[in-house]
Parts: sequence; C-alpha cells; structure tokens
Amino acid sequence: MITLKNIEKVYQTKSIETVALQNVNLTVPQGEFLSIMGPSGCGKSTLLNIMGLLDVPSSGTVEIGGKLITSYKDKELAHLRNEKIGFVFQSYHLIQDLSVLDNVELPLLYRPHVSAADRRKRAQVALEKVGLSSRTGHYPSQLSGGQRQRVAIARALIGMPEIILADEPTGNLDSVMGEEIMQILLDLNRQEFTTIVMVTHDEQMAQKTERLVRFFDGQQVSDAKLYDFQKA
Ligand code: ADP
Ligand code: ADP
Repeated sequence: MITLKNIEKVYQTKSIETVALQNVNLTVPQGEFLSIMGPSGCGKSTLLNIMGLLDVPSSGTVEIGGKLITSYKDKELAHLRNEKIGFVFQSYHLIQDLSVLDNVELPLLYRPHVSAADRRKRAQVALEKVGLSSRTGHYPSQLSGGQRQRVAIARALIGMPEIILADEPTGNLDSVMGEEIMQILLDLNRQEFTTIVMVTHDEQMAQKTERLVRFFDGQQVSDAKLYDFQKA
C-alpha cells in the first residue's frame, strides 16, 4: 500500500518556482492496478518519482507498506526501493552490453544473500513469466521493442516487489505489442497481487486497469473506479 498525504512539490530553479504537485492525497491499496493520466507537464513523472522514493516532496508525507518514509536516509531509501519497488520505463533502460539474462539479474546484485546460482534461476523464471525464455543469451539490440519491454518487466519483477511503477510502458510500442505488454502487467497484478501504478497517455490502456486518476496542473481532478475490472 502507498499513501501520499498533502503532497506538494516545488522545483526551484534560480528565481523561478514551479509548483509540480499540490495538495495530492492518494492511497493505493495493496494489489490495486491504478493508472494516472493527464497532459504533459501536469506532474505525473514527479508523482511517480516520489512514490518510487527517487525524489522527496517539498511537504507532505509518503508511506510505503505502512512505513513512514520522511526521515529516511539515502541509504535506507535505496534499500527500501530495491526491496519493494520495481520500475518500468517507456524507453526500457536496458544495459546494451549485457545479455538479456544479465540485465534481468541486475536488481539481485544488490542483495548479498542471493547466490549467483539463485540469481540465474530466478532470472530464468522471470523471463518465463514474460514469455522470453528463448532469448536469454540475446542482447537488447537484437530484440524488438516489445521484447525489450518484456525484459524490463522481468527485471522489475525478479526482486518480487510489492509495487511496480510503470512510466508509459507502452508509449514506444505499436498497438499489438502494447496490448501484449499490458496483458503481462494485468496477469502480474491478478496472479501475484502486485500493486501497479502506471502513467499512460493511452486511454484504452488506462480503461483496462482498476482505477483511473487524472491530473491537471499538479492536482488530482478526477478519481474513478472502473467497475468492469474483474479480478481473476
Ligand atoms: P509530466 O510527467 O506530467 O509531464 P512532470 O512531473 O515531468 O510532468 O513535470 C511537472 C512540472 O514540473 C512541469 O512544469 C515541469 O516543467 C516541472 N519540472 C519537472 N522536473 C523539474 C526539474 N527537475 N526542475 C524544474 N522543474 C521541473
Ligand atoms: P524515462 O525512460 O525516463 O521514463 P521516457 O522514455 O518516458 O523517459 O521519456 C523520455 C522523454 O520523452 C521525456 O523527456 C518525456 O518528457 C518525453 N515523453 C514521454 N512521453 C511522451 C509522450 N507521450 N509524448 C511526447 N513526449 C513524451
């Protein structure tokens, strides 16, 4: 569960102040699939960065899994992020010089108690979940966009995160590949009860999720439960 209370984020660049978020109150229950929509510049990335403990709000509080984050040091934040949160980006952010398998293993390198053999096994299982077992030795440049995004999802889920934060995961994909990625996220949400927060510009993708919050100018302007969503 993620709870944001009275979040405000102001960016200060020289004498210019930009209010990126104001008065944001948002609770995402464990297991929810939430989508966030809104025009460019309305604060979506800032919101995702704050939820992902990559950035801190100017005021307000963040709770992840019942833990109040405010007073954490950088090292503790990095640890919590690594344990609880998986990230998926529009542009995949894979490391070009590493094989598919090595890319997927990356988050486990920061977990000293996981052996090399375990890492390998878990990477293979994660790649099976996204239907890419046959590409473990390939390099990112040898894959299609949809396949690259599947690798990125496998990397996000290998640490068994409670939360996946996805910033336009289908934004660079054609509609067929986009649908496939969306289906993988839906399965992950339903089968593993992973909380997913997805920023998207695609109304059709958003309509497949459980709840849709719209932002405008740094503020929530609507919050709708999409009732046709059925948990399997
Ligand atoms: P979105 O993801 O919806 O496009 P962002 O969260 O990226 O919106 O940006 C929200 C507002 O904050 C915008 O006006 C943007 O210009 C501003 N902003 C974002 N990041 C920074 C930054 N690092 N420094 C200054 N202003 C920023
Ligand atoms: P990241 O990988 O850090 O999430 P993205 O790949 O999502 O970054 O976005 C890369 C750049 O493209 C960003 O500067 C962002 O503002 C811009 N961008 C993201 N989504 C869109 C969109 N739907 N239309 C136009 N520009 C976008």
